[in-house]
Amino acid sequence: MGRIILTGDRPTGKLHLGHYVGSLRNRVLLQEEGNYDRFFVFIADVQALTDNADNPEKVRQNVIEVALDYLSAGLDPSKVTIFVQSQIPQLHEMTQFFSNLVTVQRLQRNPTVKAEMALRGFNADAEEENRRGLPVGFFTYPISQAADICAFKSTTVPVGEDQEPMIEQCREIVRSFNGTYNCDVLVEPQILLPSNKVCRRLPGTDGKAKMSKSLGNCIYLSDTPEDVKKKVMGMFTDPGHLKVEDPGKVEGNTVFTYLDAFSEEADFAQFWPDYANLQEVKDHYTRGGLGDVKCKKFLLNVLNARLEPIRARRAEYEKDIPEVYNILKKGSEAAREVAAQTLWEMKEAMKINYFDDAALIAAQSAKYSK
Ligand code: ATP
Ligand code: MG
Repeated sequence: MGRIILTGDRPTGKLHLGHYVGSLRNRVLLQEEGNYDRFFVFIADVQALTDNADNPEKVRQNVIEVALDYLSAGLDPSKVTIFVQSQIPQLHEMTQFFSNLVTVQRLQRNPTVKAEMALRGFNADAEEENRRGLPVGFFTYPISQAADICAFKSTTVPVGEDQEPMIEQCREIVRSFNGTYNCDVLVEPQILLPSNKVCRRLPGTDGKAKMSKSLGNCIYLSDTPEDVKKKVMGMFTDPGHLKVEDPGKVEGNTVFTYLDAFSEEADFAQFWPDYANLQEVKDHYTRGGLGDVKCKKFLLNVLNARLEPIRARRAEYEKDIPEVYNILKKGSEAAREVAAQTLWEMKEAMKINYFDDAALIAAQSAKYSK
């Protein structure tokens, strides 16, 4: 079995820099390396509906936004199958079968689900006015996510570190399915985290733990240079660094975290020749005598250098929206075939393939012909 890569995003908004460094940039690198048999990237609209059931319009509008972000970041539909989750009904059948192998208690222990429940007010710890009932579909989405991964027999899942508990849960489901039905139909996937640690969970511009659509602290791939300027200039730094001459802290300083994630050696020669590399800037900032505004201006140049080719590609794709939908449709058709094959193998292993099982029909006939 070769290498099969799969990953996806929820269409709850446009993609942001957290998605870019956490997963999207890695996907483009993997695509360019070409070391895989199949590569699937999908838009998780069914998962997005688990906490947006009352707002299908938001999901519908964002499917095209995420698709545009994928293409503009450099995903090439001739190399990568891009599909929409709801168009693969086999995933829902698989989810049903997997649900029987997972306990409520195991789901309750999933730390990402716990954190996301709290964020959305879906649990008893949430503040009174923020408290909402927990939709069953949201609670069980790790199971549906396991189906997304297993349907394609994915070996490699490039995601940010918030997805670690999901992949672990998926691996358990694979072991349980193969063990229970005494088969080797499903494949245990491996998580692929960004090698640069700061990219595994990029903080928001407000310094909060994670840049997230739900927290409103994002710089989007499709932001204009003016938007990016406003957001960078308002970014959280070191609250103790009041005067330029004061020594500053780089740990927990979002500007430096972003420089760790985005700057390259060549950026210094191009935008800030006073320094040879990031370490020299950090040393100066820590000693004192280097102001936040200079650092932010450099970061702005770096971000715009990364975003400019993405903006240019987006402008091209925006001119042909029907073609973008066509890419998604073709990708969904191709994905459906693969998922149907896996589902068939699963049903065979579970022995619920009654009409294709000649031995079963013969045995039942023999029983009643006595
Ligand atoms: P939502 O708030 O709707 O959950 P999100 O911003 O968390 O949206 P997802 O669609 O849940 O985005 O995540 C898609 C992918 O991007 C996942 O692989 C996730 O690990 C990665 N990702 C999201 N935010 C970040 C971040 N701040 N840093 C690194 N990776 C991230
Ligand atoms: Mg998320």
